[in-house]
Amino acid sequence: METFPFHYEIGHLMSFLVNTPYSNKEVFLKELISNASDALDKIRYESLTDPSILDSGKDLEILIVSSKKSKTLSIQDTGIGMTKADLVNNLGTIAKSRTLEFVAALRSGQDTSSIGQFGVGFYSAYLVAKKVVVETKHNDDEQYIWESPAGDQSFTIRTSPEQTTDRGTKITLFLKDDQTEYLEERRIKEVVKQYSQFIGYPIKLLVEGEKVEGGSIL
Ligand code: ADP
Repeated sequence: METFPFHYEIGHLMSFLVNTPYSNKEVFLKELISNASDALDKIRYESLTDPSILDSGKDLEILIVSSKKSKTLSIQDTGIGMTKADLVNNLGTIAKSRTLEFVAALRSGQDTSSIGQFGVGFYSAYLVAKKVVVETKHNDDEQYIWESPAGDQSFTIRTSPEQTTDRGTKITLFLKDDQTEYLEERRIKEVVKQYSQFIGYPIKLLVEGEKVEGGSIL
């Protein structure tokens, strides 16, 4: 297992997201579904020139799984996935310009109440999660697990002890005790309908431990 410090500004952004009483926390789901959709676009685009890229799975879809037992919500895609280098660069060590802009806005006391407008992407998971685990598999690399508890200024990456997916990324959110509304089927559907109705891939929902188990397409 390796530990990496977050880019200083990303650490600042995360501390803010963890502690903010911001009311529009539901945008986290929009951001994660949008990332899943981008990852699916990438694999689909690559497959146009090299169809064998889809040998690791032809279904291009997004699966949301809610587990009341473990208080986790996961967003899984069969997209391009991330290599270890992608994980290190994309999720923690290299800050994007919009992240820097957002942190600068925070520092200067600007109104940042519309986080959705700034689009803080992946890190918005920390609006509702006390810990985030990312499991990912890219065609060109092994499966890795990225993990970071809210408030830590670092993240860890390790190789997955077993390969649980042929390709793609699964983001598991361990929800804060006051954010468990996002385990409810009704609430998840509401947020997906509000923000993600034009996503070009099937979005399936599986609510574990409820009678409706079996998955429904939103
Ligand atoms: P953005 O999506 O605007 O680029 P994010 O901070 O949300 O910014 O994500 C950073 C990067 O992490 C993405 O550009 C992408 O390369 C990678 N990433 C995030 N989520 C996924 C995913 N589900 N599958 C593959 N790569 C992802």
